[in-house]
Formats: sequence, C-alpha cells, structure tokens
Amino acid sequence: SSYFASIKEIPPDPLFGLKARYTSDDRKDKVDLGIGAYRDNNGKPWILPSVREAEKRLVASPDFNHEYLGISGYEPFLRESSKVILGEQSVALKESRVVSQQSLSGTGALHLAAVFLKEFYTTESRSQPTVYLSAPTWANHRQIFSSLGLNVETYPYWNKESKSLDFSGYLDAIKKAPKNSIFILHACAHNPTGLDPTKEQWKTILHELSNRGHMALFDSAYQGFASGDLEKDAFALRYAVDSKLFKTPIVVCQSFAKNVGMYGERVGAVHVIPAEENKSLNSAIKSQLNRLARSEFSNPPAYGSKIVSLVLSDPDLRQKWHQDLITMSSRINEMRVRLRDLLTKELHTPGNWDHIATQSGMFSFTGLTPEMVERLEKNHGVYMMSSGRASVAGLNEGNVEKVAKAIDEVVR
Ligand code: PMP
Repeated sequence: SSYFASIKEIPPDPLFGLKARYTSDDRKDKVDLGIGAYRDNNGKPWILPSVREAEKRLVASPDFNHEYLGISGYEPFLRESSKVILGEQSVALKESRVVSQQSLSGTGALHLAAVFLKEFYTTESRSQPTVYLSAPTWANHRQIFSSLGLNVETYPYWNKESKSLDFSGYLDAIKKAPKNSIFILHACAHNPTGLDPTKEQWKTILHELSNRGHMALFDSAYQGFASGDLEKDAFALRYAVDSKLFKTPIVVCQSFAKNVGMYGERVGAVHVIPAEENKSLNSAIKSQLNRLARSEFSNPPAYGSKIVSLVLSDPDLRQKWHQDLITMSSRINEMRVRLRDLLTKELHTPGNWDHIATQSGMFSFTGLTPEMVERLEKNHGVYMMSSGRASVAGLNEGNVEKVAKAIDEVVR
C-alpha cells in the first residue's frame, strides 16, 4: 500500500542467512561453525550444571513467582553482576560510584548505553561524540550506534598479513580521534578475531585513551568463557577502573549469554561509572537510565537474572560455575589445538595455522578467503561466516577431522 511507499526488503542478516542455509542442508555430516553459541562434544546445546541446579532450587522456592521486577532490575542481580565484573575489592564499588541497570543481555546493554550517551554525553566542544569501533568488530556494533544517528568511525585492529594486532595503527587512531570520542573495547575474546592485546599493550592503550580525554566503553560478553578465569578476562576493564586513569566516566556493557549459557534469556547489565564520588550525579544517572528502560522494555527479564544471581551468590553453585567455565573454555582450546595440529602435522596444509591455537574465546579468524568459505559450504557442508570467522565451539571430536580435511582441500 502507499502508506509504506518507501519500504524496501533487505537481505537477511548474514549470520541468520547462514543459519537458514545450514538448517535446510540435508547432508548428514554438515558442520555449523556460524553462530557463537557453545556446543558440547556431541554438538548439542549445553545447560551448565550450575544453572540446572539453580533452576531446580529457584522453582522449588516458595518465594518464586513471575511478578514484574523493578525498573532497575533484580537488586541481587545488579549487586552480583557488578561484583563479578569489577571484582569483590573494587574501589569503585566501595565508593558507591557504580550505577547499574539491568538490560536485555549484552545487545540491550549496548543499545541502552548508546541511547544514554547520545542524550547526555557532551564533549568539551559541545558536539556529539564520535564512536570508534575496532576494524573488524562484531557486526552488530555498527548497527547499534549508527541507527541512533551517532557518528561511527573505526580504529585499526587486525593486521591481515601478520594475523596479529595492528598496535601502532591502533595507537595512532587514538591520537587522531577528536577529543572526547567514545572507544568501544572488547573486554576479552575479541569478536571476530579472537585476538586480544597483551596486558602491557592494554595498559598503553588505556593510558593513551585517558590522555586524549576519550571514553572507554567496555563490551564484556565473554568473561570467564575465554580463559576459564574471571579475573584474567576482566584485566583491562579492572585496570581502567582501578587505576583511576580516566577523568571521563567508564561504561561497562555486560552479557551473561555465553559465560552462564543463558543466551535466550537475555541476562545483562549496563554499569555507568563516573570518575568521581557524587551521590546526586549517580541518582540522576540512575533515574535517567530508569526512564529509558521504562519506555523501551519497562521491566527487565526476571527469570534469567534470578538464576544468574543465585549462581553468583551461592558458594556451592559459584564453585560449580567456575568448573563449568573451565569445562567450556578448555574444550574449545582443545579443539583449537587439535585443528591446528591436524592441519600442520598430519595434512601439511599450506600456510601457517598457529593463530587458530593462539586466538582465544569462541571464535577463530581463520584467514580463509570468502571464496574458500563458499567452497567449504558448497562442497563440504562446513558453514562459517564469509569473513573466515569460525565458531570453534561448533567443533568436536566427531567432526574436527572432517573440517580439517575440508579446509585442506579448499586451501590447496
Ligand atoms: N558483544 C559481543 C562482542 C558479542 O560477541 C556478543 C554476542 N555475540 C554480544 C555483545 C551480545 O550478545 P547478547 O546480546 O546475546 O548478550
């Protein structure tokens, strides 16, 4: 009808298009290395044992119900989520500088942060800040910020030739960016490259950012999932907060999709951390985040946040969860090493494949070209993003040899 005269159909999001092609493929030995969700050694979704136990306890509790949460979210969840990301001893927490709002997982946290910053974060020159994303980055980042009309730029990150960090390009971009820009930083397990700065590089990056008056916005979607160690995976973020380097606020967007395996339950939070103690500022920030939440989704999802706060706060469940993190991260790392070894030691595939073993987190940026990826899909039923990003969680003992042989074939 003429009411929608200007509407145009757009192609499906590449990731969901990939999923659809995978689903309709009837080859029995097809392999899904597309979506970033953990799979067990049988290729099946995995409910963490700590979560199973928490679910049993929660539902059995006489206090359990499906009432609305308050607009900020479930208070025990807000407390526990800020503690797990910032650390029990966090000075920012002790100084009550952390304003937390429950969100629709990590995506919702980023969106809420973006709406909030667009409205309230004014630069010294009174213009709107520019948002800087790593090149490449998680595809949704650009969409989240640019759909709000924010100016989005990129900073160099991945050096294609050396398959390592373009550190000098990164620092250069920090120096050249207009003062008070917002830098989106992957807290750990960079998506899609699986490549993180070293601790020393992080320190330099964060010092440069603060010197230039830029804001650090940490996207933390893989804490504990990357290395199995919650502290290690929060290093950069905690360094930024604890060092008190920044005069600008720090924003943390936190997801529990991967590390607690609560993908579809949408458990997350945004934490805004102003540099100075200021009660009335914190109350104002909280009230504005509440207003935005009210009009966007009104009440944060209750079920997942109750599960996550129980897992985080109960000593026995917490211990089980630490074990679950090790189960997931070590299975992924074993698959990385196995694939690298098959390619280099058994198949003698041309090229260097060490990066598959050294990258961390859910993804490997394989270095395969779009043509090779297409051939993998067509000839072998192995599905990955055309950028060459493979979700290592999709590998298991039953399919890793097949995948190695398929990669070997398309590379030669
Ligand atoms: N940031 C990054 C870098 C991610 O990889 C993801 C998950 N793919 C997210 C945020 C958010 O995911 P979710 O909304 O499911 O928490």
